[in-house]
Amino acid sequence: MRTLKELVDRLTTHTPQIIHHATGPLLIQAHPLLDQLQEAQHDHGTTDGRSTGSSGSGAPLNVDALKLACRITDELTHLRWLHRSAPTPPAPALQAAADLYGVPATHVIGPPRPGFAGLTIAERLRWVAIRATAAGAEAAVIEVVTGWVQDIERLLNPPVTVRLRGAECPACGVTRTPIWDADQDAYVDTPALTITMGIQPHARCAECGATWTGPEVVDLAGQCGGSTAAAAHALGG
Ligand SMILES: [Zn+2]
Repeated sequence: MRTLKELVDRLTTHTPQIIHHATGPLLIQAHPLLDQLQEAQHDHGTTDGRSTGSSGSGAPLNVDALKLACRITDELTHLRWLHRSAPTPPAPALQAAADLYGVPATHVIGPPRPGFAGLTIAERLRWVAIRATAAGAEAAVIEVVTGWVQDIERLLNPPVTVRLRGAECPACGVTRTPIWDADQDAYVDTPALTITMGIQPHARCAECGATWTGPEVVDLAGQCGGSTAAAAHALGG
């Protein structure tokens, strides 16, 4: 599990991230997720081609991104309220927590400004993280903030599932298997192998339960008659 500091950094600053590429791991500087969420609200459609709503002025609006941003703002307001209402942690603990986040301790030791006016969302989040750390109450904040990181990452890189038609599972040799379809209220005969693309590509056989992850997915696509180069490209490297 990631620490609160790692989660807050992922949301608010540029952070080094490892991308698992077919040719090996790649180190990149990832943009802050809260900035990306802000930009996504005005994106011209999402990468998987889902339609987006549009406002009267004709500016495209990503409603999913807007909803998520509103939820995060609400949850952050609630967290700030909880920590403002709690007893102020001792000054040495606040000092240590402020040092961890690289924020001058005066920002958290002094009385909070009314309504936190003028603070950016990143500054408000740090204020909550420092108070929670100083009070030894990180767990509840980690739970909320982990949800934000996961939901923003999912919004930016929605997993796409592909069924491998006509491909035999290398583990059990089965090509097709019946899968329950809730919409049709019946079992439907479908290809056994599926590949889920996204940040962490993985594949699964619905017949025998065998799974493949990371570079194994590219090998699997090759064994099933596909081009490994094309698979590596399709999987985003
Ligand atoms: Zn199988």
